[in-house]
Amino acid sequence: MPDARANAVRIDFARTPPDKPAFLGTKSFTDYDLAELVDYIDWTPFFQTWELAGRFPAILDDPKVGEVARSLYDDARKMLERIVAERWFKAQAVIGFWPANADGDDIAVYADEARETQIATFHTLRQQLEKREGRFNAALSDFIAPASSGVADYIGAFVVTAGIGEDLIADRFKNANDDYSSILCKALADRLAEAFAERMHTRVRREFWAYAPDESLSTEDLILEKYRGIRPAPGYPAQPDHTEKKTLFALLDAENSTGVKLTESFAMWPGSSVSGLYFSHPESYYFGVGKIERDQVEEYAARKGWSVQEAERWLAPVLNYIPSQDQSAQDRSLREAMPTQPPSSVVPANDAEARELDAHPPGCTCAMHLAYRKKAVGAG
Ligand code: SAM
Repeated sequence: MPDARANAVRIDFARTPPDKPAFLGTKSFTDYDLAELVDYIDWTPFFQTWELAGRFPAILDDPKVGEVARSLYDDARKMLERIVAERWFKAQAVIGFWPANADGDDIAVYADEARETQIATFHTLRQQLEKREGRFNAALSDFIAPASSGVADYIGAFVVTAGIGEDLIADRFKNANDDYSSILCKALADRLAEAFAERMHTRVRREFWAYAPDESLSTEDLILEKYRGIRPAPGYPAQPDHTEKKTLFALLDAENSTGVKLTESFAMWPGSSVSGLYFSHPESYYFGVGKIERDQVEEYAARKGWSVQEAERWLAPVLNYIPSQDQSAQDRSLREAMPTQPPSSVVPANDAEARELDAHPPGCTCAMHLAYRKKAVGAG
């Protein structure tokens, strides 16, 4: 860990001072106009949901899957028109900006510019595997000016949903034995949520953080992320810890302002919701934390106020060691020390994925579930 930390991303914040957002605190958006989101839809993942590989719009003319893709796209556009005109779903969002500074691998969020009252901490994880010459061991905290630099920096956060009402409509189709339309409408709610995240991020760069007021990018360039700044989502490779959503939701009072709830396993309900942090620095980028070692897990556990076992449970997919084996070794030595002790049960090493799937909320619309359901109705 010391080596990884010594190889952190080094940004000269004094040379590229952070921009101050146009407002500090939160701003919510109720009943956002769905029509505004349609042009921001990235259709390529829509086809992936139906296991049709290829980029949109080229996929429509693909010699192998073009015909199926066109028919699906035709149905989708027709339903999308009705969704917008008849307001099937409600789109809501909340965004917020706060003064923030890095504190080691954490990000301290302050109540105001005095930077004396800390109202939240975002914990980040650092890439730990050895890097090639010239590559860094990044953590998201590297993209925020450290408190010791004396540079005033900021962080943003958002929760958007396009799924308020989606379950009701999807169930209506299902009860009418129209599983195809039920899945289609959920897939479209999911597309609208991603489009909303894209649209809101664009507005953040132009109006709300306003560090790129003159930006003008095509939908394609937005999909290719040709803009300044990133919006990493907890549970994604740069921060695989889903529990960070709890901090994000609390800061934004997101459950009250958007109607999006966090489940026990920190999945969002409705499924057609997106959340994340905003980083504005031009040198910020997406990365994958990759596998991490026990020393970082122990330190992270202490920072989060967790036991090491708790940290290993939440970070199971990124551990570079097998805690269950260590657990059985511990159990063995315990048994040897106390031969009358009954054997402890050992957690299977790879049950994290199964637990994750079980933990999805009812009616979950993640790509995996949609693919299963699509198979069940034989569509696509
Ligand atoms: N155009 C895509 C769509 O409509 O489905 C956008 C969604 S895709 C899941 C991209 C988003 O995932 C990013 O905006 C970011 O929130 C998240 N993301 C991607 N790579 C990430 C990474 N390495 N770490 C954290 N978040 C990541």
